[in-house]
Amino acid sequence: MSLRLPSIDGLLRHPACVALLERHGRESLLASFRQLLDELRGDVLNGQLSAIEISPEVLAGRVGERLIQQQRSQVRRVFNLTGTVLHTNLGRALLPDEAIEAVERAARYPLNLEFDLASGKRGDRDDLIEGLIRELTGAEAVTVVNNNAAAVLLTLNSLGARKEGIISRGELIEIGGAFRIPDIMARAGVRLHEVGTTNRTHARDYQAAISPRSGLIMRVHASNYSIEGFTARVPTAELAELAHQHGLPLLEDLGSGSLLDLTRWGLPAEPTVRQALLDGAGIVTFSGDKLLGGPQAGLIVGRKELIAKIKKNPLKRALRVDKLTLAALEAVLGLYRDPDRLAERLPSLRLLTRPQADIFAQASRLQPVLADMLGETWSVSAVEALGMIGSGSQPVARLPSAALCMRPQVSKRLRGRSLLNLEAALRALPIPVLGRIDDDALWLDLRQLDDEPAWLAQLPQLQAAP
Ligand SMILES: *Cc1c(COP(=O)(O)O)cnc(C)c1O
Repeated sequence: MSLRLPSIDGLLRHPACVALLERHGRESLLASFRQLLDELRGDVLNGQLSAIEISPEVLAGRVGERLIQQQRSQVRRVFNLTGTVLHTNLGRALLPDEAIEAVERAARYPLNLEFDLASGKRGDRDDLIEGLIRELTGAEAVTVVNNNAAAVLLTLNSLGARKEGIISRGELIEIGGAFRIPDIMARAGVRLHEVGTTNRTHARDYQAAISPRSGLIMRVHASNYSIEGFTARVPTAELAELAHQHGLPLLEDLGSGSLLDLTRWGLPAEPTVRQALLDGAGIVTFSGDKLLGGPQAGLIVGRKELIAKIKKNPLKRALRVDKLTLAALEAVLGLYRDPDRLAERLPSLRLLTRPQADIFAQASRLQPVLADMLGETWSVSAVEALGMIGSGSQPVARLPSAALCMRPQVSKRLRGRSLLNLEAALRALPIPVLGRIDDDALWLDLRQLDDEPAWLAQLPQLQAAP
């Protein structure tokens, strides 16, 4: 077998490799060459490759491509044109400039994370945002953890371990990603005491469950489903009253929650944190990166003595937030001080409130460009569409939006394959474009397409499916 592949030493000295060596360093280049030559040898041995002379230039080119591929970040920017704004799999809320600058500052310089600049003594990281959250929610005290799942776990464990947690059967929810209220209760060491039925739970059901074994009453906001028809639930104020009479804390997990009444922007009503506290919930938990529009975080707000107990739990240390999160959170919360300008400044709210007419105009403008790119095998139209808030806010509410709708002009038998091919081609673009397939068509909901130039610039690379 005469196999005249160049030697590695020869390759490294070859002029074609000078730039590669400079760019990637000797170790990476060597490893990459070894791997490629091994593969080629294999191909030659099993007869797949007959061209035995392979030039150093060709090899250098292939190794260069490989190294660039390897070095590309796995954390990729994408276009979220799915129609779901706060998409958990696509990173939920987008941060405002103010928060991005705060994160950069916190990343670049030392900061007073746990240091009280007034006294010169050790401080508490929650203090950095406590004043702001109290102001915005009316809470007595505050603590922040890594996400809302952590907030629920920590609160349950701190207030109800080895006791019973009373909760309606209609609120024993699964949020996705294996977060189920009964499981979290068990992990928190709280014994589940479920009351009522799936569709109806009354005050007398809670009343009958209260005993010396009770540790807390829990209420969970039904964020990703809705029970309609013959239903009954006890208002938070009434439940809080009952809890109070028996000296039990009422924990309300709002999930998304909101700091302001969203109906002022024409969005569906979502319970506010302030209202839950006014109604008498002892502790309210909610996410930082859902409707709040900030970084991933879990906010725990409520009565002072309950928060103090939560902060003493050693689990708090395991679930605490980092400095970058705190910096971003403070900046985002700061924007809430000026609600009149919030929809301009907070990206998630700006996107959620983008008028349908505006999105439709954009779709009409882009329709001919996309139609031209895809050719005759696709019919492309600008159409009205319905999107969602996402992240368990208002699961049944729909956001009137507009989309580019692409239908394959092929026989019914080939339609499914065509759609999947086009979907894959969009995903393979330098900035992957994610839409959704529905009703024999591929939809790109344009509510979140604000970087139109970048989207258009890569369109010619679309290797459209037949
Ligand atoms: C989303 C949600 C959670 C979990 O919040 P994360 O921030 O995703 O950890 C918990 N409870 C409810 C009701 C939710 O909607």
